[in-house]
Amino acid sequence: MIGLAGLFRSVQLLAGVLLVIGTLTSAAVAARTTVTDVRLGIHADKTRFVMEVSEKPDFRLFYLNNPYRIVIDMQELDWEVPDSKGRTSAGLVQQYRYGLFRRGTSRVVLDFKQPVKVLKQVILPPGEGKPYRFFIDIQKTSDGEFQQAVEASRNVQLASLPKETKTVAEIIKNQKHTIVVDAGHGGIDPGAIGKSGVHEKKLTLAVAQRLARILKSRGDYNVVMTRDDDTFLSLKERVNVARNVKADLFISVHADSIGRADVRGSTVYTLSETASDKEAEALASSHNKSDIIAGVDLDEQDDTVQGILIDLAQRETMNFSVKFAKYLIPEIAQSGMKLGSRSHRFAGFRVLKAPDVPSVLVELGYLSNRQDEKILKSDNGQEKLARSIAAAVDKYFGTIKP
Ligand SMILES: [Zn+2]
Repeated sequence: MIGLAGLFRSVQLLAGVLLVIGTLTSAAVAARTTVTDVRLGIHADKTRFVMEVSEKPDFRLFYLNNPYRIVIDMQELDWEVPDSKGRTSAGLVQQYRYGLFRRGTSRVVLDFKQPVKVLKQVILPPGEGKPYRFFIDIQKTSDGEFQQAVEASRNVQLASLPKETKTVAEIIKNQKHTIVVDAGHGGIDPGAIGKSGVHEKKLTLAVAQRLARILKSRGDYNVVMTRDDDTFLSLKERVNVARNVKADLFISVHADSIGRADVRGSTVYTLSETASDKEAEALASSHNKSDIIAGVDLDEQDDTVQGILIDLAQRETMNFSVKFAKYLIPEIAQSGMKLGSRSHRFAGFRVLKAPDVPSVLVELGYLSNRQDEKILKSDNGQEKLARSIAAAVDKYFGTIKP
């Protein structure tokens, strides 16, 4: 179950503005369930997915389309197994991953190249020195049967979905500008992985928290973070946070990774129907896959990954986004971080799609480059980058005359 505390965690006001949200129950400190093993068993006629867990798992299983996926949600789990972005394929399973979906719910997502069905879902009680074992047996099936399973499990999926963030009471509007700081990725979606193994989601959160703290200390802004811990939010939820608080600016913080270790520097992205270049297009499409990684049903979303349709109102918003990008780029250059070869690019990022909120996505640097990674991992580098973004915010709003 998703507690109230979990719901409201994502919209935390840092500017001393009180959010009227009724009574909050504090997050219960329940006994934690630990996962000690996750594995696949390959048989001639089926593939078995197995988890060993310390407490009886309370699970919900559902099917998702495009690509073929099986999602298993359980109570929040501690993973005493190596963190994984994606385990390699075995049997029918193309890859799988696991992690926190949101407070109170951990998630496993299994990807398949072909339609499959679950023959059996079993919880074995502890015995023979083993803890609880949860397993499912998976077999090939027809596409038609898979589609039926997707439909039949839709209610299970809906039960797993968080309540819309719009249930959060709106900010008491005052004269202050409202800024939403969005730490990219989180929870089950680690984002890019650095040379040293560091996860992008950790660095984006660190810089976002610093940025929120700096902006808050200015006293001129209401500051809202989309996430303030290691949980996942869908792209739509991130956009909704910005819309629900009627944000004046949305800043999504990321760090990129590419195949070439020599490429480095920051790049600022804004929304556009057509991408500025191939690399920007590829980056947008990989970021737009965040929801697929985390087992979110794209059929439920109001636009598709590919189709970014931009209306007239949005065009004006886009002009403001570009204006902010133009303040941001020189500030980043002054922070000591190199700028990318083309410091402002544009593409169809779904997370930038709020029609009424100027939005930018900043790729702070490349985790595939050792120097950039070092800066991004250091306190000093993170603080300088956060300060440079805050300085651009000041200039954009005219808090400090440029
Ligand atoms: Zn990212």
